[in-house]
Amino acid sequence: MGRQPHVLVIPLPLQGHVAPLMKLSHKIVDHGIKVTFVNTEFIHAKVTASMAVKGEEKNPIRLVSIPDGLEPGDDRNDALKLTQSMLKVMSVHLKDLIEKINQSNDDDQISCIIADTTVGWALEVAEKMGIKRAALFPAGPGTLAFQLRITKFIEDGIIDIKGNPIINNLIWLSKEIPAWSSTELPWSCPGDSKMQNVLFEYCTFRVNHFKLCNWLLCNSFYELDPPACDLIPGIIPVGPLLLGNQLGSHAGSFWPQDSTCLTWLDKQPVGSVIYVAFGSLTTFSQQQFDELALGLELISQPFLWVVRSDITDGPLAEFLHVFRTRINDRGMIVEWVPQEKVLDHPSIACFLSHCGWNSTLEGISMGVPFLCWPYFADQFHNKSYICDAWKIGLGLIPDENGFITRHEIKTKIETLLSNYVIKTNALKLKEMAKKSVTEVGSSFNNFESFIEQIKH
Ligand code: UDP
Repeated sequence: MGRQPHVLVIPLPLQGHVAPLMKLSHKIVDHGIKVTFVNTEFIHAKVTASMAVKGEEKNPIRLVSIPDGLEPGDDRNDALKLTQSMLKVMSVHLKDLIEKINQSNDDDQISCIIADTTVGWALEVAEKMGIKRAALFPAGPGTLAFQLRITKFIEDGIIDIKGNPIINNLIWLSKEIPAWSSTELPWSCPGDSKMQNVLFEYCTFRVNHFKLCNWLLCNSFYELDPPACDLIPGIIPVGPLLLGNQLGSHAGSFWPQDSTCLTWLDKQPVGSVIYVAFGSLTTFSQQQFDELALGLELISQPFLWVVRSDITDGPLAEFLHVFRTRINDRGMIVEWVPQEKVLDHPSIACFLSHCGWNSTLEGISMGVPFLCWPYFADQFHNKSYICDAWKIGLGLIPDENGFITRHEIKTKIETLLSNYVIKTNALKLKEMAKKSVTEVGSSFNNFESFIEQIKH
């Protein structure tokens, strides 16, 4: 009998990257394949701590960690510093880890590496060690198709070599795919040029690393975006990657999930609650944060609002205390929720979202209409898909100062909730998403075929 397959999975140390790779890992483990999941030490500590709070220390996936090269007290929100440090040290640590695993037991050899496309250096390590490799693109196929054309955009004088737009025009990949505004490219970071440069580097790096992988997986399903998938040679959509209701499984949450919100949701009328959440990275100015709160106060519906402690620089505790007394039981504010479960709850009416790719797919999978408030990078274009291509949501429109007013929030929520066509479209897309992962579905078959190939 040959050796048992053993897959090593490695994400970028960000929530929106750890989560889909962890969900993919659960699917692989369900096929009887051993998975070792490699986080940075910093993220490993967060994930295991949040698992401990939920009493989920036992995980079918083996969680291990390697250093990111920074000191314990260093600021990991400094993307440039973290990226440079990771590039400097992590390949060596990963290679050492694989050698250690391979030496410890002859039946335990790493047979395949699945790396986030943003950690392409891990694919290089795998290639040098003669290990098979897959890459998972954690955003949508439209974004990937766009990134794969960066060189062409530079040659055509559409962007410069740093990713800055040269011509202030819409950029089209095809007439079936929504256009990109030149100020809203997959690496755009309004007001933060340093971060924008880091993101552009990631996007261009990826293009080279794609050539190193044997399989290119994507967290989407073909039917969601055939025109973009058709532009990407070799793409294997295996999504939506969801945790579902599997017992004991954990999506690698960085914060403990507050499940009391589910009991609160049970008490709300069906289809009544506005779910408000902006993922793991979005931040607001104090003024914009206050205005959002006032917008939620103006509406008459119940709302569930995820407020991470770092969502704004301002003094949060005092503000929230006063706000909670004003809204009474009509709204619930929590630091982090089990988002899939929340979106799947019958009380949810719509999702006020930053349109991160994971949130977008989770909302689609649960048939929830969107109110879009993108913050950076691919989120702008995800919003275009939501509003213009799939027609399952509306976008909030900033005023001439880039500010979203309480009245805009109130009016758009009311318009969204009275729009029957959007609700129907959202439910249709939910059915398509569901079908793609059932036995006759495209993602199901793509995934089964991938599993068969990595077993041999
Ligand atoms: N999420 C969660 N609880 C929350 C808010 C978000 O579990 O209270 C999860 C969400 O389900 C998604 C991830 O965090 O899987 C956020 O990823 P996304 O791509 O939407 O946004 P990012 O954090 O990368 O901006």
